[in-house]
Amino acid sequence: MKFPIYLDYHATTPVDPEVFETMAPYFTQVFGNAASRNHEYGWTAEAAVEKARAQVARLVRASERELIFTSGATESNNLAILGVAEMYREKGNHLITTPIEHKAVLDTCHFLEKKGYEVTYLPVDKHGRVNPEDVRAAIRPSTILVSVMAANNEIGTINPIGEIGKICKEKGVLFHSDAVQAAGKVPLDVEKMGIDLMSLSAHKMYGPKGIGALYVRRKNPRVRLAAQIHGGGHERGMRSGTLNVPSIVGFGKAAEIAERVMGEETARLRRLRDKLWDAIRSELDEVYLNGHPTERLPNNLNVSFAFVEGESLMMGMKELAVSSGSACTSASLEPSYVLKAIGVGEDLAHTSIRFGLGRFTTEEEIDFAIQKVVSTVRKLRDLSPLYEMVKEGIDIKSVQWSAH
Ligand SMILES: *Cc1c(COP(=O)(O)O)cnc(C)c1O
Repeated sequence: MKFPIYLDYHATTPVDPEVFETMAPYFTQVFGNAASRNHEYGWTAEAAVEKARAQVARLVRASERELIFTSGATESNNLAILGVAEMYREKGNHLITTPIEHKAVLDTCHFLEKKGYEVTYLPVDKHGRVNPEDVRAAIRPSTILVSVMAANNEIGTINPIGEIGKICKEKGVLFHSDAVQAAGKVPLDVEKMGIDLMSLSAHKMYGPKGIGALYVRRKNPRVRLAAQIHGGGHERGMRSGTLNVPSIVGFGKAAEIAERVMGEETARLRRLRDKLWDAIRSELDEVYLNGHPTERLPNNLNVSFAFVEGESLMMGMKELAVSSGSACTSASLEPSYVLKAIGVGEDLAHTSIRFGLGRFTTEEEIDFAIQKVVSTVRKLRDLSPLYEMVKEGIDIKSVQWSAH
């Protein structure tokens, strides 16, 4: 086993060796500019890009003509939201999203609010799911875009995006979905799900960092976007800039592999993830699952451990590379806004851990993780007077705390 054990696959994934191998020749041998129309170097590069475009498109059941390469999903989310906001300003100034989107969606919406747009942040239930009927109720004549993520990156909850897409179609409102975490783990189909714009990122699915895509529907309806980067007119004029051929080739390969192994891989990860959770909850009491019990990514487990201190928990399990529910923002320890939005209290948010399993996670690693988590939590609770009182049957809410 290699330490620390990597269980943070929602943050990023290693490049699959098969992907890396496919990319290699495109740095030194097939190095042409895909926009060079006058010679063989350009043509070969362009052909490689178009092959990759088809591979990525196939993963979400789109046509390759509807896919635009970007620098990653942060850019894809920006282009989708800003591009629609600018292009459809005449039609309206209202957008709908959720409070648990990735920052690339939320910060873009906040930016638009400063520019005079109005944004509705839909409520989510205690599992982090959007009720499609809430989308319907929030749509106004001035609504130009609905943006709801397919699966959440912290708690793994999967949204009913097919139902939301259907409502958007009925109402004639464009629907964008950030599908970064869902791609390769949940079957996606832009036609069946009524999706008009979809953001993808290669490095969350065993491709390289710094490359992503935006699906942009071409018909029923044809989505128009105001470009956010100008110069050269690449990518149907929506995203100028010389194409990153090696990374695009890698992204294509990663998508092809994802499509091929998805069924088998998700079954294996689900089994390992369930093994981890079953062991944690049978060995420990006062542990709480964050996110939906069934409608969740097969590789995600997010758990709050009561009566331990978040920082000590992380320090106690340094052999595990996991994420905690606290984000260090400007020197203060802020609990995760996603956990806050689903009603997890500050204490439990601070002691939450996100386990993200992936392609290279082994059974042996999960066995080690179980033993590490259980022993660390037990050790910390042994030192906790509060936990001891609870175990003795004292209702801590009724205790009169003295200042001295
Ligand atoms: C990682 C992530 C992003 C950002 O993708 P980048 O390619 O790193 O910019 C956006 N949305 C979600 C849900 C993510 O998990």
